[in-house]
Amino acid sequence: MAPTDTTAEPPAAIKTHGDRVRVLLPLPLAEAYDYRVPGGMIVDAGSFVSVPLGQRLVAGVVWGDGSGAVDESRLRDIDAVLDVPPMADAMRRFVDWVADYTVSAPGSVLRMAMSVPAALEPPAPLIGYLAAPDPPEDTRLTPARRRVLDLLADGPPRQARELAREAGCGTGVVKAMVTAGLLQPVEMRRPPPPAPQPGRAGPALSPAQTEAAASLQEAVRQGTYSATLLDGVTGSGKTEVYFEALAEALRCGRQVLVLLPEIALSPQWLDRFAERFGVRPTEWHSDVGGTRRRANWRAVAEGEARVVVGARSALFLPFSELGLIIVDEEHEGAYKQEDGVIYHARDMAVMRAHLADIPIVLVSATPSIESRVNVERGRYQACHLPDRFGGAQLPEVEAVDMRQSAPPTGRFLSPQMLEALVDTLGRGEQAMLFLNRRGYAPLTVCRSCGHRFECPNCSAWLVDHRLRGRLICHHCGFTARHPPECPVCAAVDSLVPCGPGVERIAEEVDASLPGARWTVVTSDTVPGPKAMTQLVADMAAGEINLLIGTQIIAKGHHFPRLTLVGVVDADLGFNNGDFRAFERTYQLLHQVAGRAGRESLPGRVLLQSYEPENPVLQALIDHDRDRFFEGQIEARRRAGLPPFGRLAALIVSGRDRHQADQAARTLGQTAPRAEGVEIIGPAEAPLSLLRGRFRRRLLVKARRSAPIQGLIRDWLSRANLPSSVRVSVDVDPYSFL
Ligand code: ADP
Ligand code: ZN
Repeated sequence: MAPTDTTAEPPAAIKTHGDRVRVLLPLPLAEAYDYRVPGGMIVDAGSFVSVPLGQRLVAGVVWGDGSGAVDESRLRDIDAVLDVPPMADAMRRFVDWVADYTVSAPGSVLRMAMSVPAALEPPAPLIGYLAAPDPPEDTRLTPARRRVLDLLADGPPRQARELAREAGCGTGVVKAMVTAGLLQPVEMRRPPPPAPQPGRAGPALSPAQTEAAASLQEAVRQGTYSATLLDGVTGSGKTEVYFEALAEALRCGRQVLVLLPEIALSPQWLDRFAERFGVRPTEWHSDVGGTRRRANWRAVAEGEARVVVGARSALFLPFSELGLIIVDEEHEGAYKQEDGVIYHARDMAVMRAHLADIPIVLVSATPSIESRVNVERGRYQACHLPDRFGGAQLPEVEAVDMRQSAPPTGRFLSPQMLEALVDTLGRGEQAMLFLNRRGYAPLTVCRSCGHRFECPNCSAWLVDHRLRGRLICHHCGFTARHPPECPVCAAVDSLVPCGPGVERIAEEVDASLPGARWTVVTSDTVPGPKAMTQLVADMAAGEINLLIGTQIIAKGHHFPRLTLVGVVDADLGFNNGDFRAFERTYQLLHQVAGRAGRESLPGRVLLQSYEPENPVLQALIDHDRDRFFEGQIEARRRAGLPPFGRLAALIVSGRDRHQADQAARTLGQTAPRAEGVEIIGPAEAPLSLLRGRFRRRLLVKARRSAPIQGLIRDWLSRANLPSSVRVSVDVDPYSFL
């Protein structure tokens, strides 16, 4: 990604009475509006302010000098400056840059940076109590009251709860003493949360780890922009190494952001951080709700949160002293946000680092082609950890050719797979069966009339979830009861499941391996960190010896006695018409395979496939990652596909099929003509109906140097489409559905 010019201005001088400023509001508006600074108020570029908009007051950010677009007579006053540290200059430029790159309104991006409006209000004051200087004379002192006063005689003020605990009484006693005039309330300073300790010793590093850590630490000390790809097989100690860089940033007095895909943000990771740094980091992901979220946002803005670990949205937190960004599992598809402002958090993180002039480290066992090519081009430095730590061996990977060893109809585990499971469990070791499909079966059909159960709102099959007793659409959440008869031909007992989901594999295991202590692991059965902690404990205690799960078991978990990984359908990712299909399947299967034999016990991986000669499977079997990627990179280069060319998708959608078609055609007819730019489509999207909206796609394919954002902006502004039709722009698309 090339840094481009940004539109935010250098920090404006402090503004006072009568000056005009532009205020950006967290709303999908085309631009920032002018406001006047009233008498007695001082604002700075980046100040959070509340301003009138129509009848209401809205919080926004001072973006720069006024544009003069509004007539003096219609100019309205800023209502108030909010009690939050101003948004840093680099952050404001980042907001503008993201808006420009993703072809979104700057206000829509600002909204992501102001996702917790309540955090803009100062937190409720903390009240503590001191002994009143002149208490009423005639009050009786019970022993409890006397203990409270004794405690306060020489100590600092304390909160009611604390006082009660220390004095061994109820908070009622404290409250009554306040009413009686024996205690005096005072406002207390909120103690900052305990900070992570960079000085605590980590493990002694191997020579390769030491070298990698030293070069990352050097980048941190330099304190200027640099991007490094830290690449090493699972278990090679990448986390230990980036912890060293993180410690260095803390020693330099800077804040650190660690991005992780949501599902890799496991309790195990947090515990490990706490072990190394003494406290848990500040968390930012969908599980952090309400009050915590508010407190965390503010702690980041005020610089009290020193290390934040979060999912992609953490990138938009208002850090004031950010000094290092780490993007772990940088190849993960989960970094792409697919609705609202459509962005890739890894790519935006690189730009965030660039604008803030700080180092960024991208980490992966299977780096994305984009990052590899950036290393080749000399834009990123590379740090490589060649081996698993402590001599743990890479697992032995074999294909099971399902053409030769097919299971009986309606079953999905080959004889070899079953045998390997029996052996492994028999030795007292543990195993994992991986299938990236939730539920029991992805499709239900009627044997008599051929009816398929589809979602009424989406062009997608309903997935049979037997555990919940429902048919569910994985795209919109629509659910229906599993009917006793076919709704079309009324045949009874004619509905059959097609294909397996993890629940069906569990049924098969139950029938074929009566001794297995299995559990199904999906986002349905293990919905959050608590459930995951329980699962990890059950595995450690040996109460479970077989996991049957989706990709949620592929990430970040470490089960020392797990030695066999069985991939039920290694071909699953190949047929979705996506030019990244091979790359992604490789990355996913590599990660799954990496769960086997993480310690001294050797691991084994079985890949069930109808096409074992596929280059992805061959690369996994031969442990020849680099040659595989070279081949993929060469193919991309020849086809002019990313990162050698650029793509952007326009998705046209509307509740009315005809209007959606019409709008897509209009866009097709008014498509820009430019050197090195090709427009493909419009065409029906593979998901031609999604949540009740008809969808059509156009694809812009361009040379790497083509200014596609400008072309698209211009194109959309000329198109003049009805407001019932929506066009979302997806620059650098990862999903083609
Ligand atoms: P990665 O992030 O590359 O998968 P980790 O950092 O998680 O690798 O390391 C894998 C395992 O090896 C972890 O249990 C980790 O604690 C351990 N480990 C890695 N390096 C060292 C070291 N230098 N000393 C002790 N244990 C280490
Ligand atoms: Zn649906």
